Amino acid sequence: MKIFDTHCHLDDSSYKKDLEGTIKRAYQNDVCGFMSVGTDKKTSAIAIEIANSMENCYASVGFHPHYAKECADEEIEFLKELVRKNKKVKAWGEIGLDFNRMYSPQKDQEEMFVKQLEAAFSLELPVIFHERDSNGRFYEVLKANINESKSVKGVVHCFSGDKRELEKYLDLGLYIGITGIITVKSRGAKLRSLASFIPKDRIVIETDAPYLTPAPYKNKVKRNEPAFVKAVFLTLSRLFEIEEEEFSKILWENSLKLFSIEESPIIKNT
Ligand SMILES: [Zn+2]
Ligand SMILES: [Zn+2]
Repeated sequence: MKIFDTHCHLDDSSYKKDLEGTIKRAYQNDVCGFMSVGTDKKTSAIAIEIANSMENCYASVGFHPHYAKECADEEIEFLKELVRKNKKVKAWGEIGLDFNRMYSPQKDQEEMFVKQLEAAFSLELPVIFHERDSNGRFYEVLKANINESKSVKGVVHCFSGDKRELEKYLDLGLYIGITGIITVKSRGAKLRSLASFIPKDRIVIETDAPYLTPAPYKNKVKRNEPAFVKAVFLTLSRLFEIEEEEFSKILWENSLKLFSIEESPIIKNT
């Protein structure tokens, strides 16, 4: 069985000492595809370095909405140059709006969201979207910046919206990224009730590691890691009532399609 963790932050300092062990444990749990996601200039560069050092690991570049206020046009140019130089960059992101913590003012977030969308379009890269508590604004901004000639391909990672939002994203052709939240008893209840409305060819799974550790590991380990995406997989497989082997094939195909990855994976013996 092959499982793709479509969103993790392997650049995080908590992996520095045992990245090799982290990847080994992932393989032992059938997790053998990784998208390491950048959130600013530095983490994007490290994500690429990691992707270049491993099989089946890819990278994305982008400025997270938290850091929008630190992002100037030169930084976007810098990231574009990284994309041109590195074949393993398969997405732009994570970008979007986060009104939960408001680390950057709304105005900066929206401006950098639009500018980075343009960058992704110009490089023909799929986009990894981050949306949290934007009260519909994320969709409005996105919708205002796409049209028939500029259609968007991407994923709403760590989906946390309601049914209406889900339908709107699906109408735009977006994939929906499901994290370990779905495994958590009370916090995941809403997500579990919506999961069956996601067509099975539009769903991908992710850890968002080192954050959002799924049950049953939650509260037992210090940080999340790609191996634990298996728990998300098992929960969804039960919810969708699709046999595990078949379901893993569906999700794997979705992940490759989302990121336009053509090569077949190299499976290591662990
Ligand atoms: Zn995010
Ligand atoms: Zn993330």
